[in-house]
Amino acid sequence: MAQEPSNRLATRCVHAGEIDDPHGSPHTPLYTATTFAFPDTESILATVEGRGSESLYSRYGMNPTTRSLEAKLASLEDAGAALAFASGMAAETALFLTHGRGGVICVGDAYGGTLELLADYLPNMGIPTHFVLGDELDRLDALLAEGAGLVFVETPTNPALEVFDIAALAEQAHAHHALLAVDNTFATPVNQRPLALGADVVVHSATKYLGGHSDLTAGALMATPELLGPVWDWRKALGSAPDPRTCDLLARSLRTLVVRVRQQTAGATAIAEAMAAHPGVARVLYPGLADFPGHDLAARQMAGFGGMLTLELAGDAAATAAVADRLTLFALAPSLGGADSLVTQPVTTTHHGLDPEDLNRRGISGAMLRLSVGLEDPSDLIADLEQALAG
Ligand code: PLP
Repeated sequence: MAQEPSNRLATRCVHAGEIDDPHGSPHTPLYTATTFAFPDTESILATVEGRGSESLYSRYGMNPTTRSLEAKLASLEDAGAALAFASGMAAETALFLTHGRGGVICVGDAYGGTLELLADYLPNMGIPTHFVLGDELDRLDALLAEGAGLVFVETPTNPALEVFDIAALAEQAHAHHALLAVDNTFATPVNQRPLALGADVVVHSATKYLGGHSDLTAGALMATPELLGPVWDWRKALGSAPDPRTCDLLARSLRTLVVRVRQQTAGATAIAEAMAAHPGVARVLYPGLADFPGHDLAARQMAGFGGMLTLELAGDAAATAAVADRLTLFALAPSLGGADSLVTQPVTTTHHGLDPEDLNRRGISGAMLRLSVGLEDPSDLIADLEQALAG
């Protein structure tokens, strides 16, 4: 197992980025203001012209609450800088428009919305996109040689939990002067540090584990200031910075990230082990299981195997839907990463609309149930799964 990459991550979750408040608040106060006043025209000009960096306008992210959150986000991924966004998709859009113009290569499976953006929207804007599945990595060099400048990978993937070698992909991308962006939403910085493994950009749907309570929508990019500078311009033009209230709520959630994710990882491990022995379950997809194909790689590059797992049941899609419908503690909902455990049948939600051939290529079947393990007692969650499978 890789070393816990935290370097006192829990401490940074609480303290990084917090500003000194003149009234003694231990954390950054919420500034709801949309605009900020200056003492005179020369001071406002200095900030507008980039010679100063005072708070100016919240849509630009030039708001103390937003900047405080971004300093915390940067620290969590050991990045030089971070940008917060109104959603994970907003973060990806700004990234692709900035650094993907020469072409984006999506390695492995990805969130359905990401696949849609890459397959249906970016090519209409003249941005070439390519899809390389785990068993087609031999195509990567040729696509990079054609000029694609950005490789995008989710690891572990959604929903099959396939694990990709971040260091190897970074080396391959860099050999062609391309960038590697890793969607670290599933793993979180508690369990995986893509930048330390050689990646250039980390992407998060902060709606998931970073937010952690299924009550906010946000996204984030972490990278060097040089890489994020031009992304900042796109975020400003697209108007996709988050509202300061969301930044405040996200910063509050980040203070408990480490305890939440460790507990969720322990819960997922217990459930994976229990379900692996259940006769109604054909296969458990979880990187923490010793016989899972990506286990050895995950053990090398992750500090923990995460709170997500997928069950492939012994029945067909209809029987699988019936099991999902009988669950009472797991809510039937497509998101992940919150305190409440969630279940989704990917063919009806995240991967709905993919044709059968594509589903087959991606190894996604109607018998799959993806579980996002929350903070309930794992034995209650196992009992819920057992009653649903027995029914
Ligand atoms: N990345 C992953 C891995 C996701 O699961 C999702 C959403 O489910 C996204 C990105 C998009 O994030 P958001 O819904 O915050 O736009």
